[in-house]
Amino acid sequence: TKSILLKNRPQGKPSVSDFEFITEDKNLEPSSGEILLETQFVSVDPYLRGRMSDAKSYVAPLELNKPVQSGVVAKVIASKNENFKEGDYVSGLLNWKTSQLSSGEGLLKVDGAKAPLSAYLGILGMTGLTAYCGLTEIGKPVAGETLVVSGAAGAVGSVVGQIGKILGLHVIGIAGTDEKVDMLKSKFGFDAGINYKTTEDINAEISKLAPYGVDIYFDNVGGPISDAVLFNINRFARIIICGAISVYNNTEIPKSISVQPFLVKNSALMQGFIVSNYAEKFPEAMKELSTWLSEGKLTYTETVVNGFDNIPDAFIGLFEGKNKGKMIVEI
Ligand code: NDP
Repeated sequence: TKSILLKNRPQGKPSVSDFEFITEDKNLEPSSGEILLETQFVSVDPYLRGRMSDAKSYVAPLELNKPVQSGVVAKVIASKNENFKEGDYVSGLLNWKTSQLSSGEGLLKVDGAKAPLSAYLGILGMTGLTAYCGLTEIGKPVAGETLVVSGAAGAVGSVVGQIGKILGLHVIGIAGTDEKVDMLKSKFGFDAGINYKTTEDINAEISKLAPYGVDIYFDNVGGPISDAVLFNINRFARIIICGAISVYNNTEIPKSISVQPFLVKNSALMQGFIVSNYAEKFPEAMKELSTWLSEGKLTYTETVVNGFDNIPDAFIGLFEGKNKGKMIVEI
């Protein structure tokens, strides 16, 4: 069994040396009530950066010298738990280990016949639910309105924009390469896109692409990109603060414009959220997402990195924009 432990709390951008790789030769046998799992797919997610630090947050920090945990799809290899049988697939928060024992608590059975197994870590998992719940619950979209999404070519952003289109919005995405901007339009049906790395004046570009102003901003990145959007918001705009990846590796408090005047003069709402706030909405969200998928109204893409040992690299790649859609590691 291989494991990846958190060796250091990263300072600034994480590096592979913040992790320790160990191999153990122990045969794992489930005791009564337990299952033995073999890891198939591992999700790497920007929020893990927060868990690697010991600052106060909504979840406890990851412990040093213990395996890192994230969303995993695993196969049941042996079972002494009546709720699971050999050959079942499950998804849930599990350790970065090639195999592990579990009580089954918190694990969901997933069906590879209904969707590819990795989809349960993305479009039919945490990031799809985040897109759906954030946009509908806080964004309260009304057909005809204009939506701007940052981090638009990523797992959450690409789904937000597509749901926006399904709900009749004018959708503008912001991403870090021309190839990603093209993909937003050609694959995901966005109306327009902005490459934030090559656009000199993002504020001016948004006002050009959103001549009637911005009603909803789904923010995945924070920082100067989000400042530029604020200059373009409409009266009663809703600003959904989903994440702030541009500042997760900062070692100093970032300089930002003061948001209050923008919110006051536009009577705008800005609200942060954690997807688990909306657990009661998950059944509805899953139903909508899977229906749209089967009808072809929604699609997704993944960047799949191969090999257990490459999990830290895949994670670090999120901060370098290496992924299109969901970043997944196939074991
Ligand atoms: P993504 O798939 O979007 O991957 C991260 C992307 O962020 C990269 O591909 C990169 O794309 C972009 N990025 C990296 N660095 C920067 C930067 N400095 N400035 C701007 N963009 C950058 O990840 P997720 O979809 O999983 O997550 C997106 C956001 O949503 C994150 O902030 C995450 O923390 C948050 N989140 C929040 C949840 C919640 O419950 N609130 C749940 C899930 C995610 P590019 O090439 O465009 O730069």
